Amino acid sequence: MAEESYQLETLAVRAGGAPSQFHEHSEALFLTSSFTFDSAEQAAKRFIGEEPGNIYARFTNPTVTMFEERLAALEGAEQCVATSSGMAAILATGMGLLKAGDHIVASRSLFGATINTFNNYFKKFGVETTYVSATDVAEWQAAVKPNTKLFFLETPSNPLTEISDIAAIAAVAKSCGALLAVDNCFCTPILQRPLDLGADIVIHSATKYIDGQGRVLGGAVLGSKKLMEPVYGFLRTTGPTMSAFNAWVFLKGLETLKLRMDAHSANALQLAQWLEKQPNVARVFYPGLPSHPQHALAMKQQKTGGGIVAFEVKGGKAAAWRVIDNTKMLSITANLGDTKTTITHPATTTHARITPEARAAAGISDGLIRVGVGLEAVVDIENDLARGL
Ligand SMILES: *Cc1c(COP(=O)(O)O)cnc(C)c1O
Repeated sequence: MAEESYQLETLAVRAGGAPSQFHEHSEALFLTSSFTFDSAEQAAKRFIGEEPGNIYARFTNPTVTMFEERLAALEGAEQCVATSSGMAAILATGMGLLKAGDHIVASRSLFGATINTFNNYFKKFGVETTYVSATDVAEWQAAVKPNTKLFFLETPSNPLTEISDIAAIAAVAKSCGALLAVDNCFCTPILQRPLDLGADIVIHSATKYIDGQGRVLGGAVLGSKKLMEPVYGFLRTTGPTMSAFNAWVFLKGLETLKLRMDAHSANALQLAQWLEKQPNVARVFYPGLPSHPQHALAMKQQKTGGGIVAFEVKGGKAAAWRVIDNTKMLSITANLGDTKTTITHPATTTHARITPEARAAAGISDGLIRVGVGLEAVVDIENDLARGL
């Protein structure tokens, strides 16, 4: 398929792979850990890379390859490498592209496990990270050292939905010879394409919106062929690759991604507007609201405000827990990007393992609640929250 000529909606349904000898219409699930060769000579050629083709599922699998091709088409990337989880995508990026003595400049407002990976593991192998404001481009410039190799951000951020200016931060990275990696988990390529804005690498937790129904874990790293080669090399050697079954679930997820992102966004906007009117809500964080500090940038950079709404209730942790414990329908779980609305208390769950100081610096107060807005009727979500409010 000549992928350049098609719209995103079409690529999401059609891009990637070709039917097998059986002419199946829906993408096949190839559950096989290894592949056979016609001859010893062919095996030898495959192993040294002289002939393309599958060898072993830690390296490639046709279902995984179809997923990679489809997501690459959607992000406008030369290459995609699929991973066993979003965190494996971040690990593979670091292990593939960094070495001891390198330096990362990262947004302070990152997913908790990402911060733990940088602080506890990358650091152990001699890679230091400096954290800066997600929104103040001057801080990124000021944090650069001669050994800075990677800029890392998430936009909108989790859970406060801060918006980083991808084009402006990409320009700083470029001027210092560093790479910019953007975790595009919250927007997906349907709402935002970081590579078009100057980023070098896109990272996904496919576990969230790409699956969209909370079933399986997976991730991806995307970028140029040159950058993806060492990332793939790390995965192929050490093994945190995506399983064929999960890739097959994600392929089907991509087909409805546009419809779901539009619906999640419409529900989230309506819920955010309702929350702003509740007397016990101190503040609502949603990029689609004019009250959001980076609303104008968000509306330029993303197609919609996305599906995540955070809000701060008056009364701290006790009040936040009361709202959560009084819901009857919402799922109390740390996952997001699901058809079912999820509710989380970040300070005691997803961000519990970072220090209280780091949490305060990231603006995650004890009264903060994150809602991953699902596809139920908004009025039912509102009624469920109203009880505890
Ligand atoms: C969930 C998440 C991750 C980690 O993904 P897993 O698939 O859970 O490993 C990374 N970044 C963001 C923004 C996330 O929400």
